[in-house]
Amino acid sequence: MSYSVKLKNKNTHARTSYLSDLQCSGCGKTYQTGQIHTYCPDCQSTLLVNYDLNSARAEVDRDEISRRPRGMWRWHEVLPVLDPSNQVTLGEGDTALLPLNSLGKTLGLTQLYVKEESSNPTGSFKARGLSAAVSKAKELGVKKVIIPTAGNAGGAMAAYAARAGMQAMIYMPNDTPHANIEESRIVGAEVILIDGIISDAAGMAGEKAREEGWFDVSTFKEPYRAEGKKVMGYELAEHFDWELPDVIIYPTGGGTGLVGMWKAFKEMEELGWLETRKRPRMVAVQAAGCAPVPLAFGKGAEFCDFWTNAHTIASGLRVPKSFADHLILRDLYESNGTAIAVEDEEIIKAQHELARAEGIFAAPEGAATLAALKELVEQKWIHPDERVVLFNTGSGLKYLDKS
Ligand SMILES: *Cc1c(COP(=O)(O)O)cnc(C)c1O
Ligand SMILES: [Zn+2]
Repeated sequence: MSYSVKLKNKNTHARTSYLSDLQCSGCGKTYQTGQIHTYCPDCQSTLLVNYDLNSARAEVDRDEISRRPRGMWRWHEVLPVLDPSNQVTLGEGDTALLPLNSLGKTLGLTQLYVKEESSNPTGSFKARGLSAAVSKAKELGVKKVIIPTAGNAGGAMAAYAARAGMQAMIYMPNDTPHANIEESRIVGAEVILIDGIISDAAGMAGEKAREEGWFDVSTFKEPYRAEGKKVMGYELAEHFDWELPDVIIYPTGGGTGLVGMWKAFKEMEELGWLETRKRPRMVAVQAAGCAPVPLAFGKGAEFCDFWTNAHTIASGLRVPKSFADHLILRDLYESNGTAIAVEDEEIIKAQHELARAEGIFAAPEGAATLAALKELVEQKWIHPDERVVLFNTGSGLKYLDKS
């Protein structure tokens, strides 16, 4: 009797993480997870993380995860950290999924939601990715981390580095919102303000990293930030009783969350956790002043062209070319999604509407998703009874010094 009970207990053999290896998204070559890796040295593409999902499918119970204390790390079986003592946490994840009843009514939508990521530590969803990346870096013995940033990623990296006892260096444009500069400095990071934008910062940080041995946690130039961000996809599925929404509208800079969530949906299918095989249509929103993804999507291209003279009030969207542009585009095509650019005036208008109608003071990037939604409803690309999720990726409070 006790023997059969034991066999039925799915958690008897559960491991902290089912991490298996890293795989290049360009050439398919695999790499071991016990060593520090950035991107593929052969073809310069992003490395993505693989898990032993077959074993996890047999041994991990999704409902047991739902009963754990809240937070991103309750999904540790599908996160890359092997020893729980290396999880560097500030309480990230498990953000609210709020129904937008008032705005939904105005737009004629019956199931409109926002995933409220501004309640993450450091006021943006960058906390998720940097929690994962800094934790894995700690596990691999990294002592100093460096990042080029449009703002929020720097603030988040600085905070997690402080908590992990690592040294932090940050390259930021000199017109980055003041809150991002101060939140980084107060936790002890060295902030270097540059005359340029994130693509210029990336070059300088990369050079510094090579010269002085810093570990560069630039978007998609290391494998693990996307793993933290993908948990947004797991949380959505859990919230909707293991079904996925019809449409996800995501403000896209480097694309970590979009690519991460799409990866999560595939993983959950392999884990047998989803009730249906229906996946969401993914929408990438960018600003009209920096719209490489909508431009490439419109042409059916595989890669983006570098966007020159990038400008927008949504600093997180001022990314002229993501290092993983081909992954963003691939996932948009695969999901039957779309890409859309919105003007800064529309972003500001949407920011006010979200605030007045729902009490949410969104970052401009988050507000951009509402601006895009309005256009997609007008185009009838979205139908009245579809389940639609917007992403408010950060708090409006962090941008108060900019007009
Ligand atoms: C970085 C950032 C984005 C873009 O996120 P990616 O995952 O890099 O595409 C959107 N909104 C805010 C507030 C950000 O800080
Ligand atoms: Zn490769």
